[in-house]
Amino acid sequence: MSDIIQLLPDHVANQIAAGEVVQRPASVVKELLENAIDAKATTIKLLVKDAGKTLVQVIDNGSGMSVTDSRLSFERHATSKIRSAEDLFQLHTKGFRGEALASIAAIAHVELKTRQAHDEVGTQLIVEGSEVVSQEVVVTPKGTSIAVKNLFFNIPARRNFLKSNQVETRHIIDEFHRVALAHPNIQFVMYHNGSEVFNLPESNYRQRIVNIFGAKTNEKLVPVNEETEVVKISGFVGKPEYAKKTRGEQFFFVNDRFIKSAYLNHAISSAFEGLLKDSTHPSYFLNLTVDPQTIDINIHPTKTEIKFDDEHTLYAILRASVKHSLGQFNIAPVLDFDRDANLDTPYEYKDKHHPNVPNIEVDRSFNPFQEKQVSGKQTTFLKKQTLANWDSLYVGLESKGTQTQQDFTSVQFESEEQTGSIFKDSNQVETKQTTFQIQNKYIISTIKSGMLVIDQYRAHQRVLYEDFLQHITVKESMSQQLLFPVQLHFSPQEIEILRQVKEDLEHTGFLFSNFTNDGIEISGVPVHVPESEVSVILEQLISDIENEVPDSNFSPTDLLAKSMAKSLAVKSGQSLTVTEQEHLVNSLFGCKEPNMSPTNKSTFVTLSVDELDKKFI
Ligand code: ADP
Ligand code: MG
Repeated sequence: MSDIIQLLPDHVANQIAAGEVVQRPASVVKELLENAIDAKATTIKLLVKDAGKTLVQVIDNGSGMSVTDSRLSFERHATSKIRSAEDLFQLHTKGFRGEALASIAAIAHVELKTRQAHDEVGTQLIVEGSEVVSQEVVVTPKGTSIAVKNLFFNIPARRNFLKSNQVETRHIIDEFHRVALAHPNIQFVMYHNGSEVFNLPESNYRQRIVNIFGAKTNEKLVPVNEETEVVKISGFVGKPEYAKKTRGEQFFFVNDRFIKSAYLNHAISSAFEGLLKDSTHPSYFLNLTVDPQTIDINIHPTKTEIKFDDEHTLYAILRASVKHSLGQFNIAPVLDFDRDANLDTPYEYKDKHHPNVPNIEVDRSFNPFQEKQVSGKQTTFLKKQTLANWDSLYVGLESKGTQTQQDFTSVQFESEEQTGSIFKDSNQVETKQTTFQIQNKYIISTIKSGMLVIDQYRAHQRVLYEDFLQHITVKESMSQQLLFPVQLHFSPQEIEILRQVKEDLEHTGFLFSNFTNDGIEISGVPVHVPESEVSVILEQLISDIENEVPDSNFSPTDLLAKSMAKSLAVKSGQSLTVTEQEHLVNSLFGCKEPNMSPTNKSTFVTLSVDELDKKFI
């Protein structure tokens, strides 16, 4: 049999390599920005069109390339950064594999313009799918401009796999942040579809963080500085009270390179132990400087994972220095999340006789109908429980009105009067009590066949979700004008996200009197949304959108309704009066899909008499 093995043609080999290096437009952004940094640029501009699908261009004022180098730069394994394998252990540059440009040029239309300082004219090269289409002499500023157009033009399958512009933009901004954070001494500017998204002047590290994440970040930062023989650590951690629900702002840089490390992340979490509210994550921006000989960057094609010689020591040092900083800045002792809510009970209320107390043990520490009595000392958790939240329950009922009773298809209630009278007079103590709350979490109700256990948080989310969804889709929500408009500041990235749902937000009743790149001004809010909740709702919304990995059927409307429902629903741990419990139960069963929360979790379970009987055998 004849020989069958052949060497792959270069353009095919490049395309295969591209699969590793270039996953999406953001990968191109990363490679081009890193090349500009390696070329010692002091100003770097990133221009993006259509989330990078149409154009990613990076313009730098760095060293530029000679004519020969500009041709060579597109060859595979062509690099000016290392000469031998030993150099791999003395890396001071971002790149070294010499494959980025070759890979990118294999799967896109690339236009390069470059000039070295001492040359009068520069070189322009056009490469399409690994083929040099033209090479010309051009007049161009010192430095390099590389424009990458029509990414994956020759691999439709890859192109079709790209996510929505929103998701791809987010990835690009993430890469941009990572590079910009690692190099505060370089000016970075980013434009998307012609408008400036970031303009980060040369600054110190703290200012760079603030310029990226917004002015409100400044007060949240606690400096961390430690120098040992193994590692030098510098940077900031976020104060625990500002910990986020998402892992967004967590950055490790090793020798100015962004890296991901679950192990080192754990070191930080453990330094924060006991200081964070449940399911929140600390922010951190930490630079580790180590001897290049003690790390191996080569283990991942995108170079975001590295191997340390002595990871355990690093872990211990990192944990100790973060702990030390938190202690030194008096963060630890002032924290008191587990404050006993009873301490804060407004005492006129505690001593007040309440005619409607059910015959079971209830948490009386909080009464959502007595907003005025909430003392200034209340924790934010208690502040959230406002009258308006409760009003929205009634709203759900009003709009669904008579439908409520007909929709009780799956669950039949024992007593007719429960469904008949929704707004029961709370003074009628003699009325038979039909619901109970246990653990301030579940509502128990009796049904003909047995009993119903309802998860109050999920149930209320369902009610609010359907309500919001309806308002958004019919576009006739009610807005309440605020006496004084609320000003809120967000980072440019957050503003970008809000812009995408602005119209839907308006349909729920938000009125924006100003909407700029630095912040927004709100002059009206949906009728049942308390003013104090506005920033919480928007922050939650941003974080939900950031975390959603939208697929093709991603709907911003739906996400908005879910997110607002999540923010405004009564949480577990909140005590409800019997009237409130009944309203919730009634509204739930007035919903189109009462069985499931907006995130598809069961809102209730039933226990039949048969099942109960079995337990007593
Ligand atoms: P690597 O960065 O791993 O060396 P690349 O494919 O990214 O590989 O780049 C190949 C070479 O092209 C680099 O080593 C460098 O010499 C040159 N180069 C790329 N981009 C620039 C730039 N913006 N300015 C100057 N030289 C560049
Ligand atoms: Mg490179």
